[in-house]
Amino acid sequence: MQQAQWQAFITQFAALSRRQRVDSMALLNGTQPKQAASALIERTAQSRLCCPACRSRHIHRHGHANDLQRYRCVQCGKTFNALTGTPLAHLRHKALWLDYADCLLNSNSVRKAAQQLDIHRNTSFRWRHRFLALAKADRPHCLHGITEADEMYLLESEKGARHLQRPARRRGDHALQRGISSEQVCILVARDRTGQTIACVTGKGQLNKKHLLHCLLPIVDRDILLVTDGHAAYTAFAKETGISHQAVNLRAGIRVRGAAHVQNVNAYHRRLRGWLSIFHGVATRYLPNYLGWRWILDARRILSAETLLKATLGEFPHLTVT
Ligand SMILES: [Zn+2]
Repeated sequence: MQQAQWQAFITQFAALSRRQRVDSMALLNGTQPKQAASALIERTAQSRLCCPACRSRHIHRHGHANDLQRYRCVQCGKTFNALTGTPLAHLRHKALWLDYADCLLNSNSVRKAAQQLDIHRNTSFRWRHRFLALAKADRPHCLHGITEADEMYLLESEKGARHLQRPARRRGDHALQRGISSEQVCILVARDRTGQTIACVTGKGQLNKKHLLHCLLPIVDRDILLVTDGHAAYTAFAKETGISHQAVNLRAGIRVRGAAHVQNVNAYHRRLRGWLSIFHGVATRYLPNYLGWRWILDARRILSAETLLKATLGEFPHLTVT
């Protein structure tokens, strides 16, 4: 290439997207970008490769199919590949998976991701939930110290369901009943002062003690100081479990009383609500996936498409010993 051409060529580097940079690096290293996802899948699976049927590690290579190495179990004869038993098994177009993971990290809507990758909207939707199936399991195991908890409510949504249990609601419609009713789904958010956060769907209607025993108790240290807005459910929960509890009376205008406030958890609610609005209402049955996705983004748990693809295959960053 002539010097002038080369100069013109490299000035375009600045305009490359992150993905295009990664693909260019792959090309310079002698691998086809198309194979990047397959290579990553093979590498990720390598250490724990065993027969999905009998768990035997006595396996042989058994040809290639769909850009992946196939294996055959010596013990039971079953054949499999690196994706067998993962949420991504049997999905097509592997060459686009890293780009799709980028779309998830950018919070692209189903439609936008479909346009960007030139795939069908249904494919984009299916991939979203397959990609999040395991990634959403990347949650903190335990909250410590001062822990704020507060609940928020979303209108129950059967978006996408074939048989509605009630008359269809138009976008932006409000609940028919006043106050909190079974038309609303409760999301409990608990966050400690190191930023570890748990968000879970407790169910339809008002939060109660039973929900807290089920959702909150297993993930908190017994000696936390639970700070809440004083909802009766928290008081009853604290009394039954012996967990220290401080209620902040928001209505009385006492927003901050020293360290006891629920501002961090309320800020999390605001970010969650704002982010959910990108998707114009999400179906209640998929809500846990969105809560996991939000946590990944909010805590900056996963920053690259490669890490997200690995998490989708069950390999989380914090489990990797370096
Ligand atoms: Zn086997």
